[in-house]
Amino acid sequence: MSKPQQAGAVVVHGGAGASRENEDGCVLAARRALAQLEVNGEALDAAIAAVSALEDDGRFNAGSGSVLCLDGATVEMDASIMDTRGRLGAIACVQSVKNPVQLARAVADTPHWLLAGDGATRFARAIGMPESLPTSERQRAAHRKIMTQLAGSVPVMPGVNNALFERFWNYNTPLQLPDGVACDTVGAVVRGADGHFAVACSTGGSAPSLLGRVGDTPIIGSGFYAGPEGAVAATGIGEHIVRHLLARTVYGWIADGMPLDRALQRGIDLFAPEIEVGLIAVSRHDAGACSNSDMPYSKMVQR
Ligand code: ASP
Repeated sequence: MSKPQQAGAVVVHGGAGASRENEDGCVLAARRALAQLEVNGEALDAAIAAVSALEDDGRFNAGSGSVLCLDGATVEMDASIMDTRGRLGAIACVQSVKNPVQLARAVADTPHWLLAGDGATRFARAIGMPESLPTSERQRAAHRKIMTQLAGSVPVMPGVNNALFERFWNYNTPLQLPDGVACDTVGAVVRGADGHFAVACSTGGSAPSLLGRVGDTPIIGSGFYAGPEGAVAATGIGEHIVRHLLARTVYGWIADGMPLDRALQRGIDLFAPEIEVGLIAVSRHDAGACSNSDMPYSKMVQR
């Protein structure tokens, strides 16, 4: 396939609703992606390098910073990768994996595109993926905060009665309410100088959630999409994002010629303001980010 030569570009996000104080983590991740592009020009390797950096950062809800489930012990993570060379891989509800995005990349080499739950965790062990680090005080503090909020009357998940988590409780240990929705998935989109596109995403899921909950992050067309005209990653409350097939919808507008910034804003405008949503995208000639709430991000172009 002959493609026009153009500058590589990277956009990285640290989650809709996350503090911009952590934006330095996105800047570092974007630099990692650019450095990787210099090594082999591969958009997918660059996107994975960025997301791996954010998974290792510990301040984002992915990899080592993933939110604890409501039982205060379990961590369930989702991740995905896709590029315009035909690689597609995702994992859902995987446990004890240091870098879920690298596991998603490994799934792309199997006969399948998505592995979930125990099978995904066993796949990680079978191919020797490093295990996650022990949970940190930061993760435990975030869990305590959610449980306190859940015990109150203000919905932690917008529009959802807090009591529903008690009613449908499916963890092994009983609910222990103590004595906002935590959502800050990470993602990266990359345009290679050869005109190929890639996307990679990773999350510890949204909190509060029932055991086994899967959001948009590992669902093609919802949390992520890459095609010949660009790549898009979404962040926010997955239960809302999937209803709009958000990443594919926004990609479609870009592919139809809508300016990238307008396509991103139109995607965000699909949601009520109280539903935190963010988008990043690269196209042939542009790159950008848009969110209806705080969202740390970084955009860099290859020189
Ligand atoms: N989209 C993620 C999910 O619903 C959360 C996030 O983006 O912050 O699992």
